[in-house]
Amino acid sequence: MQKRAKNNVILIMDLYFDNAATTRLSENALEAYIKTEREFFANPSSVHRDGIKARKELERIRESIASAMSIPPSSLFFTSGATESIATVFSSLLFNEPGRIIISSIEHEAVSSWLPILKHHGWDTVVLKAKGGKADPEELRALLTPDTKLVAVMAVNNVTGAREDIKELVRTVREYERQGNRKIFFFSDSVQALGKVPYDIQELGIDGASFSGHKINGPRGIGMLYLKNPASFRPLAPAGGQERGKRGGTENLPAIAALEQAVLSWLGSFGSEYERISGINQEIRKALEDLGMEILSPEDSSPYIISFVSPLPSEVYVRMLSDKGIAASSGSACSNNSKGEGEKILLSMGIRSSKARNAVRISFSGDTDRESADAFIKAVKEISNGE
Ligand code: PLP
Repeated sequence: MQKRAKNNVILIMDLYFDNAATTRLSENALEAYIKTEREFFANPSSVHRDGIKARKELERIRESIASAMSIPPSSLFFTSGATESIATVFSSLLFNEPGRIIISSIEHEAVSSWLPILKHHGWDTVVLKAKGGKADPEELRALLTPDTKLVAVMAVNNVTGAREDIKELVRTVREYERQGNRKIFFFSDSVQALGKVPYDIQELGIDGASFSGHKINGPRGIGMLYLKNPASFRPLAPAGGQERGKRGGTENLPAIAALEQAVLSWLGSFGSEYERISGINQEIRKALEDLGMEILSPEDSSPYIISFVSPLPSEVYVRMLSDKGIAASSGSACSNNSKGEGEKILLSMGIRSSKARNAVRISFSGDTDRESADAFIKAVKEISNGE
């Protein structure tokens, strides 16, 4: 199936429902990328006129994004993506006296892959269960100890779209802190939350968060790290001292400019888009349920992700959808390189393995419209009818 997209490019796979994996670069973001590459080609660290011009543009963009997110510009750092943002936080722990670290059982590999490393370095690593997809503040309270240094719970899960009650989890941690006059860093991987669900860093009260450009129609290879108090964090690559010493390496200014467009666009149209996508989500959920398929995403999940149990092993079902021009993903694989990661997450939510193996994820973005939703429903019905 072919369709002419807004940017006049013929798409072979127009029914793209894999936006939780990556989104299409928006026209605005692409234009900003090209314009910035042309106009601000100089190195922002250079002291000549062109370098100063590039530096000013970099700081203008930081202020613009920070203002849209209602955070101080000094707390925002540009990285190569969420994986690097997360690595900056977790690798910094290695320079501290080991203590306890608690992460939820549904974290993305970018977070969970740090557990064995920290354990190896003497950290007491503890996993907070997320039955039904939700981490329970009471259970978190029971795991907090005087030597707990970091708690990490993602804002929105990438496999099911489950939304975590970050505000309540943070409140639990803060209450515990007050009792013993201690400080616990609360980190929330917010890749699938920014622009997609109500999300306000100040209101949540978190200390650190990671974001990714390519999940919001920005370019790949650009991301952000929020650090409320950056002082105690170390860069992964110290050389150069860029990003106020937190991220060495020449700044990817064109990608940062494209990211600005992506953030402004998602946050600027948040209310109406949230309503629109919620409508599409409800329509698709109902159609799947009418066909006898179970929805694994909790009812109050992000409207941008639906995980459901297909009648066949997920790889087979995803292939059948692909044959009908639809791009979906196996709910049990976050990425092709990490088969089984998503399945682990579903199992940790208490979902039986027979269901987890058949889990399929579809995910939306601003490009998703009623027409594509109807085409998806038609394709699913055809598969059910053996067509
Ligand atoms: N965290 C979550 C929840 C994600 O969905 C992803 C993307 O797969 C990442 C982290 C990693 O993001 P990036 O590709 O920017 O490194």
